[in-house]
Amino acid sequence: MAEHAERVDRLAAGLAEVDALLVTELLNVRYLTGYTGSNGIAVVSPARRVLVTDFRYQEAVQPLRAVLDVEVLDRDIAARTAEGLEELAPGAERVGFEASLPYGLVERLRGLVPVGVELVPVEGAVEALRRVKSATEVAATRHASDVLEDVYGRIAAGRLVGRTEADVAWEIERTIREAGFPELSFAPIVAAGAHGALPHAEPRDVAIERGDLVVVDIGARGASGYCSDCTRTFAAGGPPDPAAAADYALVLDAQLAGLGAVRPGAVGGLVDQTARAVIEAAGAGELFGHGLGHGTGLEVHEGPTLRHGSEDVLEPGNLVTVEPGLYRPGRWGIRIEDHVAVTEAGHEVLTGFTKDLVETAG
Ligand code: ZN
Ligand code: ZN
Repeated sequence: MAEHAERVDRLAAGLAEVDALLVTELLNVRYLTGYTGSNGIAVVSPARRVLVTDFRYQEAVQPLRAVLDVEVLDRDIAARTAEGLEELAPGAERVGFEASLPYGLVERLRGLVPVGVELVPVEGAVEALRRVKSATEVAATRHASDVLEDVYGRIAAGRLVGRTEADVAWEIERTIREAGFPELSFAPIVAAGAHGALPHAEPRDVAIERGDLVVVDIGARGASGYCSDCTRTFAAGGPPDPAAAADYALVLDAQLAGLGAVRPGAVGGLVDQTARAVIEAAGAGELFGHGLGHGTGLEVHEGPTLRHGSEDVLEPGNLVTVEPGLYRPGRWGIRIEDHVAVTEAGHEVLTGFTKDLVETAG
C-alpha cells in the first residue's frame, strides 16, 4: 500500500503539461493503486487522488482507500468521471487522458466535461514510472523466473522425441499452474526443427524428431501480476546436425556479448548492436530478424527496449530480456533468452538454467 501511495504521489508531482491525469489503462491503474478489477479509472491531480469504479467492486476496493479516495459510480465510469471532474480533480482546467484511449470515447467525453475543462492527450506518463522497478517488483519477477528453472529441468531430464509440441507445451503450462501461478505470461512456444525458424511459432500436433533443435520460450505470471520470460533451445534425443550446433554456439556468443553490455547508462540500440555484431560477423545477420530484448513488468513486453534505434537508457531497476536468435528457413531455429535485472553494479541474471546446449536422453 505504501508503495502504491508513493507511485500516485510521484505521478502527481510529475504532471507538467496538465493539471490532472485520467489513468484509464487498467494495468496502469493497477500499478498505481493495486486495483485489479475490470472497470477502474484513476484521477490524479495535486489536489486529489481518486479511484473511480462501479458497484461490482464496492467491497473489493475497500483496502484501496488507504491509498486514495474511492468513488463508486454507475458502470459508465468514463462518462461519470468526465461529468464529475469539478469534484474529482478540483481546479483542473487542462485534464490529460492517456493517449491509448479510443478516439470515439475521447470525443464523447469532450461533450461531457464541465465548461472550461479541456481534455488533452498525454503519452507514457505512468509507463515511464513503471520502467524502474522497486525491490518488491524485482522479487516478484524473480519468483516468476524461478519456476521456469524447474520447467526446464523437467524437460532436460525427460523425453522430447516422439512427443508433440502441443503435448510438451501443455505439460509446461500444467507445471507452472500447479506451482501456484494463476497465469502464464504468454502461451508457451515449443517449436521443433524447421518450425523453430518461425520466432512466434504456435505448438503443433506434430511429433518432435530425434536431432531436432527445439525452441522453448516460456513465462509465468504471478498473483502480483509480474511476468517472467525465458527461452532455451534443446537438442531432442541426441546431438543435432553439426551446422546447427555451430549456429547454437554463435547465438550463445551473441547472447553473452549482449548480456555483457547490460549496465546502467547503456543505450538500448547499442546493446542490441553489441550482440548483433557477433552474428553479423559470422555472415548470418539477416537470420536474426528481431530486436535483442524488451523490458518486462506487469506486461511481458514493456519499456525499455533493446533493439536497433532504441534510445532508451538503462538504469538500475529496469528488467529486460536478452534474446538473440538465429532462424534458418526450412532448417532450424535457435533462441537463447535470459531475463535480467539492471543493478547499480551492472546486471543480475534472473534465469539460472544452463545455456549449454542440452541434449535430452530421448
Ligand atoms: Zn520469451
Ligand atoms: Zn522475450
